Amino acid sequence: MASWTTLAFAKEAKQFLGDDAVLTQTAELKTYETDALVMMKTPPDVVVLPKTTEQVQQVIRLCQKFDLPFIPRGSGTGLSGGTLPMRGGVMIGLSRMNRILKIDAQKRTAWVETGVINAWLNREAKPHGLFFAPDPSSQGACTIGGNIAENAGGIHCVKYGVTSNHVLALEVVTPEGDIVQLGQNSETVAGPDWVGLFIGSEGTFGIATKALLKLMPVAQKTLVFLASFSALTDATETVSAIIALGLQPSALEFMDALTVKLVNQAFHVGFPEEAAAVLLIELDGDPRQVAIHAQQLHRILKEHGVVQLREATDEGDRLALWKARKGTVAAYGRLYPSFYLHDCVIPRSRLTEVILAIEELAREYDLLIPSVFHAGDGNLHPHILMDPQDRAMVKRALAAGEAILDLCLSVGGVLSGEHGIGIEKSGFMTRLFTASELEVMRRLKHVFDPEDRANPEKIFPMRSRCGEAHTGLPLKILQASGVWI
Ligand SMILES: Cc1cc2nc3c(=O)[nH]c(=O)nc-3n(C[C@H](O)[C@H](O)[C@H](O)COP(=O)(O)OP(=O)(O)OC[C@H]3O[C@@H](n4cnc5c(N)ncnc54)[C@H](O)[C@@H]3O)c2cc1C
Repeated sequence: MASWTTLAFAKEAKQFLGDDAVLTQTAELKTYETDALVMMKTPPDVVVLPKTTEQVQQVIRLCQKFDLPFIPRGSGTGLSGGTLPMRGGVMIGLSRMNRILKIDAQKRTAWVETGVINAWLNREAKPHGLFFAPDPSSQGACTIGGNIAENAGGIHCVKYGVTSNHVLALEVVTPEGDIVQLGQNSETVAGPDWVGLFIGSEGTFGIATKALLKLMPVAQKTLVFLASFSALTDATETVSAIIALGLQPSALEFMDALTVKLVNQAFHVGFPEEAAAVLLIELDGDPRQVAIHAQQLHRILKEHGVVQLREATDEGDRLALWKARKGTVAAYGRLYPSFYLHDCVIPRSRLTEVILAIEELAREYDLLIPSVFHAGDGNLHPHILMDPQDRAMVKRALAAGEAILDLCLSVGGVLSGEHGIGIEKSGFMTRLFTASELEVMRRLKHVFDPEDRANPEKIFPMRSRCGEAHTGLPLKILQASGVWI
């Protein structure tokens, strides 16, 4: 039953957004109750779908008037529960702000509204011989705004960098309802890096409505290699050797044995099923340089006991390999209906010992924890497969997740490489940052958002939830979401 405040908010919002852009029915709100942290579900009180920056501003001012929190939402593919309305309130969906405003091929830039889907931008940039480098595996669905808010990465970030390396300027509506532009149409800007400060703020500093993005030239030559190994450690040591030699691959991805089998079953891509691990390695750039690097790569692979090597030279074959890699999560769904995923980053020199230790944890907790990850960045993605209805399994999965995080932190790692902190890891922030560091972060949030209205309870750990820090996840919402705990 909607509250009086929600109904009054909705009535006023309809006056400037129109009836079809304000959702209050239970069935409509259900679509927005979760993101890709599917374990957790809680619906907003109302969803609004503005089409312009000015409408976003009007919505935020209306939130002030009715003292309601707001939660920005792109496509809801975030993996750390960033779009969960922890205190209810107004979800501001950016999906209708989806225009590519200008591609400037000469300057290699694009102005876009932030509801544009990542893959759409790449489709439009391709005829100009350009591409937007951050390429999350979810790029067919996720928005540029979500990429900015999470500082998203992807397969090609090992060479090209994450989202923060590709944004020149942002138009932002602040939590107090001002429209400001951060950054300029230039690589060099005097003063603090305001754009950098906003990127990765997960909707807690306001809403990005437009972005000026850098586009990169498509490489003249691209080769993809699928290298399989009979020992997992041969694969992880190959990663270190490739980086140590300075080969600068444009992608360097790891898949373990279970992942290889499941991906094969799902996509029929002919991955070697007997492999203990495979690496997908991409080289791109000037054809002569790629040829030299390919020779060096062959040598490294041989020295590290590669047992099978497939080279994808034509675009169709390359795309098939990357499609299979990007579809891994779907392939995991063949075994269990859900998963709990961490994305810590560790020093690459510790890759072998950490991967072996995670395998040990899987045995200890009696769980399947297959791994597919951005090996070149040391960005791990252990997927703890589970059935949310199996109480004992959920408990083991949460405990294993915590053990994996502690393991990664113990070798000098960090909580997240690209999926953000959201609600999922906010309870763990105290393990990485000191009390003074967290206090500075809270104060910074307060400067942007003095009334704590913008995506509350995300990133910055809630003092009131200290007792729950052992799971990282708010237990009440887990239980209300039907997770058997
Ligand atoms: C199968 C799968 C594979 C994935 N692979 C990758 C990967 O390889 N690399 C990677 O980095 N991520 C990956 N992700 C995670 C996710 O897709 C990214 O974090 C993506 O950037 C989220 O975009 P979105 O539009 O879905 O954002 P949402 O999930 O809607 O929102 C994410 C966060 O951003 C905030 N937000 C959204 N739009 C705005 C805006 N305009 N202004 C301010 N805040 C905003 C939200 O409040 C929330 O906190 C994957 C997810 C899935 C499901």
